[in-house]
Amino acid sequence: MKTFCGRANPTTGSMEWLEEGEDYDYHQEIARSRYADMLHDKDRNVKYYQGIRAAVSRVKQRGEKAIVLDIGTGTGLLSMMAASAGADFCYAIEVFKPMANAAVKIVEKNGFSDKIKVINKHSTEVTVGPDGDMQCRANILVTELFDTELIGEGALPTYEHAHKYLVQEGCEAVPHRATVYVQLVESRRMWCWKKLFPVHVEAEDGKKILIPPSEMENCPGLPSVCDIQLNQMPSSDFSTLSDVVKMFSVDFSKPVQSASTCYRVQLEPVKSGKAQIVLSWWDIDMDPSGIINCSMAPYWVKPTSALQWRDHWMQCVYFLPREEPVVQGEKLYLTACRDEYSVWYTLQKAREGENGADEEEQKAAVCVESPVCRCRAHLLWNRPRFGELNDQSRTRQYIRSLRKVLKTDSVCLCISDGSLLPVLAHYLGAKKVQCVQPSRIDLYHPQELWQAFFKANNLEDKIKIIETRPELLKPSHLEDKKISVLVGEPFFTTSLLPWHNLYFWYARTAVSSHLASNVTVLPQSASLHMMIVEFQDLWRIRSPCGICEGFDVQTMDDMIKDSLNFRESKEAEPHPLWEYPCKSLSEPQEVLTFDFTKTVPEHCLSTEGSVKLLRKGKSHGAVLWMEYHLTADISVSTGLMQLSNEKGNCEWNPHCKQAVYFFSSVIESEILSDPTAVEYVMNFDTKTGEIAMDFKL
Ligand code: SAH
Repeated sequence: MKTFCGRANPTTGSMEWLEEGEDYDYHQEIARSRYADMLHDKDRNVKYYQGIRAAVSRVKQRGEKAIVLDIGTGTGLLSMMAASAGADFCYAIEVFKPMANAAVKIVEKNGFSDKIKVINKHSTEVTVGPDGDMQCRANILVTELFDTELIGEGALPTYEHAHKYLVQEGCEAVPHRATVYVQLVESRRMWCWKKLFPVHVEAEDGKKILIPPSEMENCPGLPSVCDIQLNQMPSSDFSTLSDVVKMFSVDFSKPVQSASTCYRVQLEPVKSGKAQIVLSWWDIDMDPSGIINCSMAPYWVKPTSALQWRDHWMQCVYFLPREEPVVQGEKLYLTACRDEYSVWYTLQKAREGENGADEEEQKAAVCVESPVCRCRAHLLWNRPRFGELNDQSRTRQYIRSLRKVLKTDSVCLCISDGSLLPVLAHYLGAKKVQCVQPSRIDLYHPQELWQAFFKANNLEDKIKIIETRPELLKPSHLEDKKISVLVGEPFFTTSLLPWHNLYFWYARTAVSSHLASNVTVLPQSASLHMMIVEFQDLWRIRSPCGICEGFDVQTMDDMIKDSLNFRESKEAEPHPLWEYPCKSLSEPQEVLTFDFTKTVPEHCLSTEGSVKLLRKGKSHGAVLWMEYHLTADISVSTGLMQLSNEKGNCEWNPHCKQAVYFFSSVIESEILSDPTAVEYVMNFDTKTGEIAMDFKL
């Protein structure tokens, strides 16, 4: 069987559909999966084991046989825990075939083949009866089907079905219940991910302020969850306006309803401020009494308990439809609405004289419609991109450099997706400003948004959006004028890895015939930088687990390793490193440069060398990022922002993902007197726009 995989081609900026063998998809799935992270999640594993033991013994105490249904068995871990705890039989359901196969092997290797039956089906396809997949209904329901938003992986419909068809009434469930918690906060940093703030430009002829159109101000944004490692958000970046409140609970031992519903709680702000964001996380009680509790609460909620790092469950940031000023002590209602797979929030002020009696009425009045972007900006810009556009110090760098290169007779072309550079260039006095937004042409036509944007700022007819791809640009698009200043951030929405934004270079090459002989290109060049790091935690997601709670899961480790080495080429992967602390073990090193004043060469750009390890630590991998040299003396980094030298603590650009290449073996470097080096080879293939790399430790 063949599958089609969508991938952006970094040399054309557009999506291409490649036919791939069946294996490709599944190797990608395994290689980038969260299985390793889950197996390393000690806190989760220990508590599941405790909860399972307790459930089995409750059933046994009642004199019943313990029959377990484990939905989404993955490696078979939870079923093996149940079998060890004395369960009489386990039905381990797994829909993903490669995982079901792995579970069979792992169960066999651990000696549980007679107690555990692995069934490669979606749970809703499982049959019960003498000829069915299961002989009888189970009396213990074990699952781990949760994502950061709790219900995003379809836990509710799966439970609903299981209670109807697969388990007995009054069954035990591990976990027994889940509770979702919320806290109302004000945070300029996070609010910057949802709306565009006015952009201030100091032009020759005075101060200009670029304002977003009103449609954007009141737009509810996107329904998709924003999940982050909230523990990396310093407390100085937000202010809590309420206590932590229980929003809703789900009891998994009783029939579960997945149909859309709302939950409402009353809040009294502990502080006056601007309500913008609802932070949310959940916990699960593994037993009915709630003694065995596994919590995703962030650092400020449980300051005394040790935090378990995990990437498969983080915390959620929900953006209120609009900012709401709130006063300490006033009565507020926060409503959570959910459908089968997602949750969203609204905030209401309690009306004068309102009491509990018309509670139901109030609840019904709440709009249950899921947020949909009406202004189109949320389709054009994703959350980190909003953050980037709102980053004033970054904008200042672009303004400074534009001011250096623009002249009153400049004919300027901007090639970047959803960029504000054309507006800046206009304010800074360019005679003619035009722009091309390559990826957006394939994905979405943002004309209406730009028109609203230009209208709000009286910029109609000042900036021309050329609706074509750079390769198809004709002299008539440019009114037969040559371009004297070519600018780009560069930023393209289809880019996955940092160097994919080198599409700017390809676009620059494609428009060569339209460039004046003395053209200025901004950025004039880019460079790829690299550093060897020790991660505080991120290493777990790609590191073998071996034995998990006494069970041998090496088969899974091997499987991940095979998938990572599929086609013998390991790849770098994108991660936003502000969420994943690391310390540098080497100096940052420039490894490749790309000269935008020239066209993309025919030949590959290769380099090799070695980088010295300067600090003691475990080298987990190399981090790579791009820096753009806007002019000779102004550069912006999409990676490392600061390095504090004694400890090697790194500060990363908070709006960008960096590339991480995990080493397959980790070396521990010793003291400085005996510096070890890591050798590298890198090859930028100008035909594909990809960078292949290899490291020797
Ligand atoms: N139980 C394992 C793995 C959890 S990951 C552990 O705790 O370590 C969740 C797994 O459930 C994934 O492998 C996914 O493929 C599977 N899954 C999710 N919903 C399912 C369903 N309704 N039926 C069968 N498998 C499901």
